[in-house]
Amino acid sequence: MFDRASVVTPGGVNSPVRAFRAVGGTPRFMVSGTGPYLTDADGREYVDLVCSWGPMILGHSHPEVIAAVQEAVSRGTSFGTPGEGEVALAEEIVARIAPVEQVRLVSSGTEATMSAIRLARGFTGRSKVVKFAGCYHGHVDALLAAAGSGLATFGLPDTPGVTGATARDTVVLPYNDLDAVRAAFAAHPGEIACVITEASPGNMGVVPPADGFNAGLKELCAANGALYISDEVMTGFRTSKAGWYGVDGVSPDLMTFGKVMGGGFPAAAFGGRADVMAHLAPVGPVYQAGTLSGNPVATAAGLAQLRLLDDAAYAKIDAVSAELRSLVGDAFTKEGVAHTVSSASNMFSVFFTDEPVRNYDDAKKQEAFRFTAFFHSMLEQGVYLPPSAFESWFVSTAHDERAVERIAAALPAAARAASEATA
Ligand code: PLP
Repeated sequence: MFDRASVVTPGGVNSPVRAFRAVGGTPRFMVSGTGPYLTDADGREYVDLVCSWGPMILGHSHPEVIAAVQEAVSRGTSFGTPGEGEVALAEEIVARIAPVEQVRLVSSGTEATMSAIRLARGFTGRSKVVKFAGCYHGHVDALLAAAGSGLATFGLPDTPGVTGATARDTVVLPYNDLDAVRAAFAAHPGEIACVITEASPGNMGVVPPADGFNAGLKELCAANGALYISDEVMTGFRTSKAGWYGVDGVSPDLMTFGKVMGGGFPAAAFGGRADVMAHLAPVGPVYQAGTLSGNPVATAAGLAQLRLLDDAAYAKIDAVSAELRSLVGDAFTKEGVAHTVSSASNMFSVFFTDEPVRNYDDAKKQEAFRFTAFFHSMLEQGVYLPPSAFESWFVSTAHDERAVERIAAALPAAARAASEATA
């Protein structure tokens, strides 16, 4: 299948990390998923610790989500008109997350952050965007600039196809460094439209914000007339009922969502202060649109999933995450592997270093080659991890005792493989 895919699709995949380039080997083609398990095209079953990179928080093929989708599909798949499902999903988001007074639905996290930035620029009349090295906000041109950790460094495009002009409006700063943010505001008075940050980063591995970091960002933005955008595409409706906002209580001006809120379908959103959202078309002048935005099948899936995510569901996910973190840490300790199990609520990842990891530069110092050996050993033993040392692991309400036992059984050999790995 991979050979077939590679003929008709660049690298054989529709999103680069799926290609296993960071760890080598052939990506598994999955044909079905049930609860915490995925089955590949060769009929092998895996305990899934990727959960489609976050969305499948109730596990795969949850009967109530599937039923909601089937019911929606039976009425048609897209109307290009307003519909009740999108209103209900927006109401659910607004009810859960106090800073979101109004929300606009889109189809991917990338669209959500792209639109939020356009809106911030339109609202403030300014052009510069501050982002942090190691934070990923989708493949938005202006956000694919990450120049490393230099203080107030101008972004250099990370990829051909993003022009220098676009990148020049992006200021890339080291994560968890409020002094760098202060310096950026001082260097660009009246020019910064917004600061965008992952609410708690999961795209350089899991690196939670230091105490007071998000509150400090909000304060600096407010003092300098810029908007504070919290990207909750990954953390939203995962790290608590109200996402990371539910953990730290810092109110952003704008927020972005995706993943969990789509129930495994393409649905995402951005929202926040009503006076800012009022600048969006058709009420205001900032244009934004989408043929499939608020799609009835996607909104039915998302709504069904969110309605099942009550306090008991989060307690269960948190407990499974804590158990796995402890099992993983013990396995590495037993083999004498230097490691840090880093977590933010129920999101977690392993850094192969015992030094503190506070930003992307720290994260890059880990012995990532150990992850490769660990990953392949787990895969061979039927545990599907994210194929990169710089990604969060995800669990679901479906990860029961049997699934945890299968992971526990695989860990000793995989930790040994990590300990014996050489660069
Ligand atoms: N923002 C964050 C924090 C993400 O983790 C991602 C995707 O992983 C995105 C934005 C982009 O979302 P999408 O892949 O749906 O475009």
